[in-house]
Amino acid sequence: MTKGNDPLSLFDSHCHLNFSVFDKDRLQVLSQAEKAAVSHICIPATQQVEWPSLIESELLSQVSPVSIVTALGLHPWFISEHHPEHLNVLDKLLQQRPAGVVAIGETGLDFFDRNMTPQTKAKQLELFTGQVELACLHQMPLIIHGRKSHDDILKVLRRCKPERAGIIHGFSGSEQQAGEYLKLGFKLGFGGGITYPRARKTRHLAATLPIDSIVLETDAPDMPLNGYQGQRNEPGRVKLVAECLAKLRGISLPEVAEATSHNCRTLFRI
Ligand SMILES: [Zn+2]
Repeated sequence: MTKGNDPLSLFDSHCHLNFSVFDKDRLQVLSQAEKAAVSHICIPATQQVEWPSLIESELLSQVSPVSIVTALGLHPWFISEHHPEHLNVLDKLLQQRPAGVVAIGETGLDFFDRNMTPQTKAKQLELFTGQVELACLHQMPLIIHGRKSHDDILKVLRRCKPERAGIIHGFSGSEQQAGEYLKLGFKLGFGGGITYPRARKTRHLAATLPIDSIVLETDAPDMPLNGYQGQRNEPGRVKLVAECLAKLRGISLPEVAEATSHNCRTLFRI
């Protein structure tokens, strides 16, 4: 149900606004996002060095026209930067319940590189499993990156069963894998990928999965939308993702905005 008079309110559940590519015009990007009806942005960390400044992004929140929440985690792409000790650091930080930190992430498994050594694979698995265990311990949701690894991710999640589940971001897996994540209570994040007509399988899933299992994202500065290839992606473009999803599902933009923002707020408890 939509409340006709409510202003549109969109939630970009995945935006790397802390990356240096936004250093010159971060506040301008935020004000553009506000103009595009974005009310909330979640910034997930990718490595330990980002955590202190993300915890302090409370400061950015005070001057930002958009509410900002964050997640702390270790992304599989930066495996050489991670140390098992970072899991203990994360545990200690989470014990302090820092304001604005709503999830653990971005974590996950990325097995796209076929030349990956068994050691790298094992280190990814160790760090991912450690973060899932912390999600259970601290009762926090997870923000998960998966590429060529959904069945391995599902195996870890089934073993640990994090109570508050989380988001599988930038989902482009199979219908069967989507179903398995939903059974575990996870939401699936859809972004610029669904704006490409060739992404038939993912568009079909975005059109047909229950709306209460879907959240929107940009993954800015990455994952450019169709028509914006080669440009820096921005959180304001989550509105175009929402418009695309509305068209795919045959419902209105306010309906998409209300449902997907509600899903994020419920998941993150804000
Ligand atoms: Zn990301």
